[in-house]
Amino acid sequence: MGINGIVKGLGITLKHFLETYWVDIVYKGKRYGTEAGIDDRRSFDTKGIFTVQYPEEKSKVPEEFRYIPFLVYDEGESGDKEIRCTSCGICAKVCPPQCIWITRSVNPETGKPVPKPAKFFIDVDICMNCGLCAEYCPFEAIRMDHDYEIANIDRFAHHIYDLDKLLKPASYYAEIRPTQFKEEDDARKEKEAKKAAARAAKEI
Ligand code: SF4
Ligand code: SF4
Repeated sequence: MGINGIVKGLGITLKHFLETYWVDIVYKGKRYGTEAGIDDRRSFDTKGIFTVQYPEEKSKVPEEFRYIPFLVYDEGESGDKEIRCTSCGICAKVCPPQCIWITRSVNPETGKPVPKPAKFFIDVDICMNCGLCAEYCPFEAIRMDHDYEIANIDRFAHHIYDLDKLLKPASYYAEIRPTQFKEEDDARKEKEAKKAAARAAKEI
């Protein structure tokens, strides 16, 4: 890079520096710590400063952003957790780095297996965030989370997620992935309506 390149680079820095003051006046000081201000600084045609002051400010992640998986439960009428996972083990089989462990529940009286996990662990330091577990789950029971702030100093105490850490309500799923949730919810309702119509047709 010659002297021209250095001058050009410094010119761009100076332009952004000066524009920052101008845009701050236009925004009347509301360009920091507000959602609109963060969105503006993250846009392609932004002017002035374009950085986000993490961790005080956080960029919004896209809906399809994926980090660590979580297990979805529906909230029953009596407030109990209706866990969608049937402990079929498909997610553990397809997981490329093999970081999922599941133990199926057993009926203590009959000794027969119950389609519900007794234990479910994900080693989040090994998870490579590929999302295959969520892709392959036939029960829409495991989905990819948006929470990326999981750094900790004790891997074994905090990074082997168990059921307590993995279970999150369907309302949370709907909040972070509204499009995917709606598609699945609509498909489920359509299927149920078809089943009900078939039952009604048989009774006639
Ligand atoms: S999360 Fe889905 S794929 Fe994994 S064990 Fe549960 S039901 Fe099966
Ligand atoms: S996101 Fe990929 S690596 Fe992580 S648990 Fe799921 S399948 Fe395994």
